Parts: sequence; structure tokens; C-alpha cells
Amino acid sequence: MSNLTSDIAEMHWQHDLLGSIEVGLAVLDRDYNVLVWNQFMENHSGILPNTIRDKCLFSYFPEIDRDWFKQKSDPVFDLQSPAFIIWEQRPFLFKFESSRPITSASDFMYQNITLFPLASLSENVEQICIVVYDVTDEALNKRGMQALNKQLQQMSRVDGLTGLFNRRYWEERFSEEHKRIIRSNTPASAIMLDIDHFKAVNDNYGHPAGDHVIKMLAKIIKKSVRETDVCGRYGGEEFAILLPETDAKNARLVAERIRGVTEKYTCIHEGIEIKFTVSLGIAQFHSTYTTHMMWLEQADQALYMSKEGGRNMVSVK
Ligand code: GH3
Ligand code: MG
Ligand code: MG
Repeated sequence: MSNLTSDIAEMHWQHDLLGSIEVGLAVLDRDYNVLVWNQFMENHSGILPNTIRDKCLFSYFPEIDRDWFKQKSDPVFDLQSPAFIIWEQRPFLFKFESSRPITSASDFMYQNITLFPLASLSENVEQICIVVYDVTDEALNKRGMQALNKQLQQMSRVDGLTGLFNRRYWEERFSEEHKRIIRSNTPASAIMLDIDHFKAVNDNYGHPAGDHVIKMLAKIIKKSVRETDVCGRYGGEEFAILLPETDAKNARLVAERIRGVTEKYTCIHEGIEIKFTVSLGIAQFHSTYTTHMMWLEQADQALYMSKEGGRNMVSVK
């Protein structure tokens, strides 16, 4: 093959490659003038290669922060090492529309960018090549996954009926507080609460009415405590409350408030009035409670004292 034929063959090959490749390619000189602009760049920007050739990139893409881009590309020219810009740092370099605007949840194209040095014969880097990868699907998947994970995490903490923490998460928080308090030496109290004769509520009014009562009680509890107190639905009609920085005396005030408000409250379920009461047990942390369950056991014993004592009352261990 003559030199000319092989050159032409080479040009065809390059042309086909640049055209068919599913990434964007743009070659820039030191003054950021565009030398090469492939089919991908043309398709997504709507700018023809002949239009942009020998023009400064920034004049066509005012959205690119010039100082920032120079800061990224200077080392590519000077140190001859490639640079990478991933979508998590900056969602895109060129503001292109998403390639599937109908089906995609994004109206722009997320991009990963590589800046390659192109060395000349003198080995100075006089040109750089920008490679644009469309990573919209990957980015949206990851974004979606993160949102979903957050939702799942939230769901796994919260009891569906009451919106209070579920038993597993409440115990986790309680255990953390127990560890913390051993070091800090500040007071903290735990309250256990159980609805009195709740079987009768279910028997007399039905299970949905029972659920309604549980839900309204959770609201009373939430209203009676501080923002920093940790409320959980410990079992069917049992609740646990952790009160940080609170001694038994102050915990008793909170417990009495819950008891008193509940006693006065009437739950109206499908037009029927339901009255109910609660019993509560309190245990302030003591250094002999070496595990969090020992501490909770004391609150449970105090609750048992309230049941034994006639219900609708507060006991302190
Ligand atoms: P006590 O005063 O001794 O606590 O009497 P009690 O009838 O409340 O007895 P206990 O606490 O042992 O019984 C709880 C009952 O609550 C048993 C169960 O049928 C009912 N229960 C448990 N979870 C739920 C729930 O999620 N919804 C409804 N409606 N009822 C529940
Ligand atoms: Mg019970
Ligand atoms: Mg009960």
C-alpha cells in the first residue's frame, strides 16, 4: 500500500471510530480551541464540527466554569498525567439533555469525564483530549438506591401503627445510652408502660378499636415527653421510654402526666367512647446495672408493682 492509500485508510478508520463510538471526544489546544469534535458531541450539543473547530470551547459552553476547568486541565498539559472528573463531584461538564428524556428520570446527562494528554513529537503536551462518558443510568440507579436505602432504614426503625420507634431500634438506642451513661455519670431513667385490662378493650370493642387506643396513647406519650426522650413501642400494648439526663423524681413527673392525661382521655372509635388507663414503672440508672437489660428489668419490676398495687398508677424501683 502506498503512503497515501494507507493515510486515507487510516483517516477512514479514525473517522468511523470517532463517529460510531458511544463516548464524546473533543481535542483542545492550549488556548482551549476545539480541534476535534466527534459525532457524539455533535449529536448531543447540536453543534457541528465545522462550526466549533478552531473556536474557543468556553464561548460555546458558558456553563463551564473557566477557572475551575483550567485548574483541572493545567496539570494534564504540564505534568502529562490524565485527570478524572466523576459525576459525584460534578454531575456534568457539558449540559447535554439526557439521551432518553422520555423514560429517564433526569433531564440532563450525568457524565464522567477523563482529560488525556496528547503528546507531540517534541513530547510537550500541546493538546488534550476530553472524553465524555454518559453515566446517566448508573447515576440514577445509585441515586435511587440511596433514597431507597434511606427509606428502608427509616422503615426498619419505626413502628407502623404508632410512628414510635420499634422494639429493636429502641433497644439499640437504650443500649447506647447505657454505654454512654457508664462513662458520663449523669442520671437517666427508663419508663415501662402497659395498658390496663387491654384484653377487655379488644373483647368489648374489637381489635381495630384496640389498635385505635394504642395509636392515641402513643400520641399522648409523645406529647408528654421532651424532644430528646426516646419513645418506643416495646410490645403489643407496652411502651418503653428512655429519659436521658433525668432522675427518678423527674421521670415520675413525666409518668404521672402520661397517667393523668390518659385517665381523662376518651378515645372515640366509630362513634363509641372508650376509656382506658395505664400502669407505669420507673427505674433510674444505677451503676450496679452492668447491662442495659438489667436496667430495663428494674423498670419492668416497677411496672409489675403498679399492676399489683391496683393499676392506673406509677411505681419507682
Ligand atoms: P393488664 O392490666 O394485666 O396488663 O391486663 P391486659 O388485659 O392488658 O393484659 P396483657 O397486657 O397481658 O394483654 C395484652 C393484650 O393486648 C393481649 C393482646 O390480645 C392485646 N394486644 C397485644 N398487641 C395488640 C395490638 O397490636 N393490637 C390490639 N388491638 N391488641 C393487642
Ligand atoms: Mg401487656
Ligand atoms: Mg396490659
